[in-house]
Amino acid sequence: MSPTSAPRVLVLGAHPDDAEFHAGGYLTLARQHGFEVMVVSVTDGSSGHHRTWGAELARRRAREAQAAAAIIGAKCQVWEFPDGRLEPSLELRERIIRTLRSFRPDLVLTHRPVDYHPDHRAVGQAVQDASYMVTVPAVCAEVPALRRDPVVAYMYDPFTRPVPLQPDVVVDITAVLDTVVRMLACHESQVFEWLPYNQRVEDQVPSDPEGRLEWLRRWYQSRPEEVARRYRSLLEKLYGPGGAEVRYAEAFEVSQYAAPLEESLRRRLFPMVPWQGGSQF
Ligand SMILES: [Zn+2]
Repeated sequence: MSPTSAPRVLVLGAHPDDAEFHAGGYLTLARQHGFEVMVVSVTDGSSGHHRTWGAELARRRAREAQAAAAIIGAKCQVWEFPDGRLEPSLELRERIIRTLRSFRPDLVLTHRPVDYHPDHRAVGQAVQDASYMVTVPAVCAEVPALRRDPVVAYMYDPFTRPVPLQPDVVVDITAVLDTVVRMLACHESQVFEWLPYNQRVEDQVPSDPEGRLEWLRRWYQSRPEEVARRYRSLLEKLYGPGGAEVRYAEAFEVSQYAAPLEESLRRRLFPMVPWQGGSQF
């Protein structure tokens, strides 16, 4: 990594919409700061629907993921692991190792290995298993090893057992909430069809495009609102008095199993955060 080049962020999400749901605000701000962003959906999304599934759904969801990434000018890959059947296999670990070595991210965002969805847990576990191994030349020897790990950070989830997320960074995403909603709206088969059906609210989804977008905004924003509420004291530490006013936020916990978020890296990887508390973090 040359210190003058733009930081590179890789999102390893389990499903085609995970990056937007969990980190869409940070990714938008990172692109505004000139970062290179690549969004990977490890599974093909082929199970997330109640009327259609398999190859037809996988094709649709890949198109939706590309459209969402295009809104912020991010690169996008949808891998072929089947949705709903992911395991933290050696095959997945080695795919992640090769991807880390070729994309050479400074920051990797992923799920925690504890989460409600088995695919999320599998990705989180596989990323943990790939950390450190990316530096071992004899592993996947056909791709040159990295000299050091990237920083790996877990995206927010609300689960508290065995332990709740302990964020190191909370990012104010209020200014870019509209962009995240527009990205999410690209995932039509999810946000207007499957998720409302799964949550038994499909009869509440309006049919006109503007009404749907407004409905999506209200439905989605409760999550970053809850993050801002839950981590208010950290927001006040990072943003100073303005932290009390932040409405929408995303939170990230740095993995202990990859590179630490040293002070110089904090400002480089999260330049949108004022880091008011200086070196006390
Ligand atoms: Zn998911």
